[in-house]
Amino acid sequence: MKSILIVEDEPRILSSLADFFRLQEYDVRTAPRGEDALRLAREHPPDLVLLDIMLPGMHGYEVCRRLRQEGFHRPVLFLTAKGEEVDKLTGFDVGGDDYVTKPFSLLELHARVKALLRRADPGPEEDTYAFDGITANFTTYEISVQGNPVKLSAKEMDLLKFLIRHRNQVLTRDVLLEQVWNYDTDVSTRTVDTHILNLRRKLAADGPRDRYIETIHGVGYKWVG
Ligand code: CA
Repeated sequence: MKSILIVEDEPRILSSLADFFRLQEYDVRTAPRGEDALRLAREHPPDLVLLDIMLPGMHGYEVCRRLRQEGFHRPVLFLTAKGEEVDKLTGFDVGGDDYVTKPFSLLELHARVKALLRRADPGPEEDTYAFDGITANFTTYEISVQGNPVKLSAKEMDLLKFLIRHRNQVLTRDVLLEQVWNYDTDVSTRTVDTHILNLRRKLAADGPRDRYIETIHGVGYKWVG
């Protein structure tokens, strides 16, 4: 059963969303304010967050930014009201994954939710990966770019594997530290940056450095493709 945290200050919308997703057999928690949402997300990390942007108190973007800061890396889908001044770029900057504009159809919303959950679920371990000139075999540890073998350190290989398994998701430095370095106390977020830099250099061949690994400013990195 997938869990959803719905953050919405309008009681009518909140209860209709909660009813709908419970009927679809999701485990639903609700929060009328951003502060409650952060607390709930810490106590019971949901698989996805539906986040209203215009909230009393803490703004939806701020809630999202803090969630990402705290290492929450699952999908966040923003709810916006029609006519609301919405800066979509800011929403993606703070780590949001998608938008739905109110009034929306519940079926459309559900389709977006399912798509995000599918994308976020890496599924069974992949042994091989190929995209835009790069091939990786995580069983034999062979990586090549444009047909040329690339030598990676063990840590670079772990990082590459994690990025690819969570491709198209924004991963914060904290999440990478936690998942790739297992909270090793000797490493800092600079270690993450250095490894990303090396990985980019080795994978770039003649192409642009950020071809596969995109920097999401103030948040972290994303494997594209
Ligand atoms: Ca609102």
